[in-house]
Amino acid sequence: MHELAEKIKGRALALGFDLVGIADASPSVFAEAYRDWVAQGYAGEMAYLTRNLERRLDPRELLPDARSIIVVGMNYYADAEEGPGTPLHDETQAVFARYARGDDYHDVMTARLRELLAFLQAEAGAEQDVQGRVYVDTGPLLEREVAQRAGLGWFGKNTMLINTRRGSYFFLGEIVTNLALPPDEPAVGGCGTCTRCLDACPTGAILEPYKLDARRCLSYLTIELKGDLPEEFRPALAEAGNRIYGCDICQEVCPFNQRRAIPTDDPAYPPREATATSKLADLLLMDDEAFQRAFKGSPVKRAKRRGLLRNVAVALAASDDPETEIVLEAALNDPEPLVREHAEWALQQIRFRQIVPVSADQEG
Ligand code: SF4
Ligand code: SF4
Repeated sequence: MHELAEKIKGRALALGFDLVGIADASPSVFAEAYRDWVAQGYAGEMAYLTRNLERRLDPRELLPDARSIIVVGMNYYADAEEGPGTPLHDETQAVFARYARGDDYHDVMTARLRELLAFLQAEAGAEQDVQGRVYVDTGPLLEREVAQRAGLGWFGKNTMLINTRRGSYFFLGEIVTNLALPPDEPAVGGCGTCTRCLDACPTGAILEPYKLDARRCLSYLTIELKGDLPEEFRPALAEAGNRIYGCDICQEVCPFNQRRAIPTDDPAYPPREATATSKLADLLLMDDEAFQRAFKGSPVKRAKRRGLLRNVAVALAASDDPETEIVLEAALNDPEPLVREHAEWALQQIRFRQIVPVSADQEG
């Protein structure tokens, strides 16, 4: 089986995955902590995290005779020209989280994991009757825990999985299989005394090391939350650098990314034009057809046009460019009530600043 495991890993790397390891298919050791996190409401409206909770906690609920989990990681870091952690925008530009700048990783990784499963079945031979289930993000596994057990990385205080040699800009995916493969050693490592991510989070979403309140996180607020953005968090969108789709701050400040993230050469992940160079004002003027064209096959479609434009309107509230008011006024006629309401709020903020200018003391 060692030989087969090595072949699978070699094939995974040949398919474009950057990390690969094997864990046994034992139930989650974090079941209690996870139930507690959900019970406290920290998952917000992310029903997919709380639905079928028990299935999330035990791989054998997914495949009754599951014995092993092959875990892969795929690097999506694609910012070579700016350098890790470097702000890449001016104040008129929209910033999308790195993972969302290229093609939809679900499609890319699922197709490659299916190829890997087919390879595994062919190598094992028909007599072994190898079964497998492929999961990328949406699957009910506690991915990061399994990835840690498979040796891919360890938990950072920002709750991301960190690979000591490569940082944390990775997508994770798994194959749960009934084939017994030799497990890898769990990854070990830690943050030491570093607290950069806790200090840098613009909304205080990292409540304490290893504990995230998703309801305060810009990633959740700008992507998963479907209704109004709570006013308490609206200023953070612009202050954090026009983060209108997700947020990378707690990864950007992490020394493991700053020193060790390597740009991907995978053709699926270089930023597309709409996520690399869009101006906030241009995004707010996108009709549905333009949105579909710009984000076809992109993770950004998850927020839908109304969610993205809601975020853009909120970010524009911080702009003092006279053109901004014209664009926001046009958005008052948007077909989506959500966009209209947030555009109106943004206009109020701008006009309030015009009446009550920020004093020199406050600016200082
Ligand atoms: Fe905070 Fe942004 Fe990290 Fe969310 S993604 S925890 S808002 S720094
Ligand atoms: Fe850990 Fe520091 Fe990275 Fe946060 S920024 S995950 S504390 S090493």
